[in-house]
Amino acid sequence: MQAPIIAIDGPAGAGKTSAARALAERLGFLLLDTGAIYRAVALVAREAGVPWTDEAGLGQIACGLEIAFEPAPTGQRVLVAGRDRTADIRTPEISEGASQVSARPAVRDALLELQRRLGRAARVGLVVEGRDVGSVVFPAATLKVFLTASPEARAERRHQELLGRGLPSDLPATLHEIRKRDERDSTREAAPLRVADRAVVLDTSGMPFATVVAALEALYHKESGSADRG
Ligand code: C5P
Repeated sequence: MQAPIIAIDGPAGAGKTSAARALAERLGFLLLDTGAIYRAVALVAREAGVPWTDEAGLGQIACGLEIAFEPAPTGQRVLVAGRDRTADIRTPEISEGASQVSARPAVRDALLELQRRLGRAARVGLVVEGRDVGSVVFPAATLKVFLTASPEARAERRHQELLGRGLPSDLPATLHEIRKRDERDSTREAAPLRVADRAVVLDTSGMPFATVVAALEALYHKESGSADRG
């Protein structure tokens, strides 16, 4: 029997990564952060000197990508070709690169099967987050959520997150970056960011983190309860 899948999509800075992680912990489910996979492609490309606009080169990198996730005290460690690259994929430069490479159909096609394969490792259940995980990667997910928040609230979160990691951050620049990424992620032709069929839209602007996680858990129990009742 297929383990239950909770698919969380939404724009940058909506709190998907932290909420998905907390939800996976509460339910004992496997977590799959698909943004980390696009980030890894951008990082490998930059280090190999492949421009983020070179579709054929990026497609090859995506096809041969060696990525693994390991549990860590602060979430998950991301291993790329066996090396811990958790911090390297989270810089603003790689955020921009991930957004660029993810607009390339060759990259998306190559990563589709990889995401499904990683998801199949889930025994109890899977919490997966990204931009198209409910619409394209796992369209039959038990619960689909579109997590969003105002651009200002999302920029403020990203700003605090970068400062918290000891990285330089400028709030107006972060807001500008977020708007630019939103625009690119929603207007690209390949799997644009959109609300999937059956997805529940949850606006987290001004919502405390614990409330977001509790709301997601309640939605899941409601959805899996109604699925059990047939
Ligand atoms: O979620 P995160 O900010 O880590 O994602 C980085 C970038 O990867 C996003 O801006 C988006 O362009 C891309 N992405 C995607 N599809 C996914 C996950 C991420 O296009 N499922």
